[in-house]
Amino acid sequence: MPGQALESHLKPGTVAIYPGSFDPLTNGHLDVIARGSKLVSRLIVAVLTNTQKATPLFAVPERLEIIKHATAHLPNVEVDGFGGLLVDYAAGQNATVILRGIRAISDYENELQMALLNRRMRPDLETVFLMASEEYSFVSSRMIREIVQLGGDVTSFVPPVVLARLRAKISPDALD
Ligand code: ADP
Repeated sequence: MPGQALESHLKPGTVAIYPGSFDPLTNGHLDVIARGSKLVSRLIVAVLTNTQKATPLFAVPERLEIIKHATAHLPNVEVDGFGGLLVDYAAGQNATVILRGIRAISDYENELQMALLNRRMRPDLETVFLMASEEYSFVSSRMIREIVQLGGDVTSFVPPVVLARLRAKISPDALD
């Protein structure tokens, strides 16, 4: 209605989980978090703790700190770690939405499989996909890790807090 504020929530009170490994958090993740946070009452960014890669860039506690820092300006965004089944974690948080991002058709197959499995396990939990913004659609944590390992510059792909942490890894005194 003209003059009326638009209700931004999917449904008032909706809690969503945005799960991932976030190793490291990228500008693409942050874009999904910012856009997703406008749709729900509470958005919990949940870092997977049980499928550790052999050589992570950042340990899980550091990833949690990074995401907290980078989302501090978004009051309805929380950050947490979780192990075990996502559907069980979501139930414990009273969440009804799983938020995921899709970059390209290559993401689709895997995301579809996960969404259908999760739906079979918990039908009242809906997976909501946000299309990646064009400027970040080619950004992935895996590519960032590879560039970092080869000594390349990732300035335009990750938030400043990730850059600061990367610099601190090279020279530990660099961190404020
Ligand atoms: P990645 O796939 O980059 O290793 P995650 O496993 O942490 O990262 O991904 C968590 C979710 O975020 C997935 O749904 C993934 O498709 C989505 N995502 C990752 N990078 C982007 C991006 N650049 N734009 C939009 N969504 C993304």
